[in-house]
Amino acid sequence: MNLPFAEWLPRQRWYAGRTRRLTTVTAAAINSLRTDLDLLLLDAHYDDGGTERYQVLVLWSDTERTDLPDLAGIGTVRGRVAYDALYDPEAARHLLELCAAQATRGEVGFSVEPGVELPVEAPPRLTGVEQSNTSVVFGDEAILKVFRRVNTGINPDIELNRILGNAGNRHVARLLAAFETTWDDVPCPLGMVTAFAAGAAEGWALATAAATRRYAHAGEGDFTDASFRLGQAVSSVHTALAAELGTASGVFAVDSALARLDSACAQVPELSAYQPTIADIFKSVAGQSIVVQRVHGDLHLGQVLRTPSSWLVIDFEGEPGAPLEERRRSDSPLRDVAGMLRSYEYAAFQPLVGRGEQDFAAALDWSGQCRAAFCDGYADVAGFDPRQAGPVLAAYELDKAVYETAYEARYRTDWLPIPLRSIATLTGTAPPS
Ligand code: ATP
Ligand code: MG
Repeated sequence: MNLPFAEWLPRQRWYAGRTRRLTTVTAAAINSLRTDLDLLLLDAHYDDGGTERYQVLVLWSDTERTDLPDLAGIGTVRGRVAYDALYDPEAARHLLELCAAQATRGEVGFSVEPGVELPVEAPPRLTGVEQSNTSVVFGDEAILKVFRRVNTGINPDIELNRILGNAGNRHVARLLAAFETTWDDVPCPLGMVTAFAAGAAEGWALATAAATRRYAHAGEGDFTDASFRLGQAVSSVHTALAAELGTASGVFAVDSALARLDSACAQVPELSAYQPTIADIFKSVAGQSIVVQRVHGDLHLGQVLRTPSSWLVIDFEGEPGAPLEERRRSDSPLRDVAGMLRSYEYAAFQPLVGRGEQDFAAALDWSGQCRAAFCDGYADVAGFDPRQAGPVLAAYELDKAVYETAYEARYRTDWLPIPLRSIATLTGTAPPS
């Protein structure tokens, strides 16, 4: 079957090969889920010799489907039209039904968590497609996340949601179901269903709205109560992960931080002035013993949801491009704390991008208050104040800010001053003019 994916794949938000040259797309597996529905694993081959494996659910139709958006249309094969099935509510519902039935279709096994009744009658709707994966919400009850880039191993999003949910932690969405296949006889996770937090708002939207209100009206936009509770939630998740999966003694990974620094300096000329000081800070914590455990790994305000009753931590998948084993590696909880602290700086300064500097003092003040409240909340549950980690926490923050400079230089140059300003503060140097 010669499928027309080579043009369709690169148009998808979750396609990660934009900086490479795609040569061919081949089907590694075709699993029939229903007569008109296939689950495909596609290998994208690049001219540098590398490949990436993607999951696409294909809905076949004898006629053009005018009710589906253009982006859903993959192309025509032997008179039948192929669509991305996740845009079709009934096809999405069928995936939930297969989970409920614990079905096996081709090489794909669907399962439901013990005691769970899936909301197969609830109306499905596709959420925004601007994500690394594709998610479909069923009523107000469940959210199905279909992984787009697939890898063998244990998926940390499924793994940690299951463990934290079973441990009774109330700051994660409960895992309801999952599906997987095998690749060279090794399990290869394909998707998961979790409880949907109805009425939840994203931390990033809440925080940037609060900061913006602060700049408009000096007495408003307080986000410290919310940040205190968020600190408690993150701390509770860390404490539960330590209790369930254990801790060990480790060190700050100086060599990889230095390598990231070198590579960022090569891409961001403005960073070079700070390089020696940053490198010294990394080296100063080199031999220090720190506690490591399973953590979130990519925590920021976009990965937390505020429900009417609590904060939820979501998306434990880590970096989708990295091998699963790497994504499951233990690290210091300070990695997550630093991610949140960096995110407060972003939430404070992002609303000011492209504007003058007149609100900079207010932004520093707002983010300083939120960061302090977050650490207070964290200490309240963990009995350990992350600020006591001093230089180690600064090293994690710097490592993240260095990564951010490379990202911004590449994708959003007008945001580049945000991490550069933080780096100036963290290294005790004058901010760039
Ligand atoms: P990213 O591109 O950020 O990595 P992703 O594809 O891995 O995203 P998630 O971050 O897990 O997907 O979820 C995408 C969005 O769906 C979230 O930002 C959130 O708005 C919503 N969402 C996810 N899980 C839930 C949930 N349990 N309840 C309510 N909304 C949720
Ligand atoms: Mg993600």
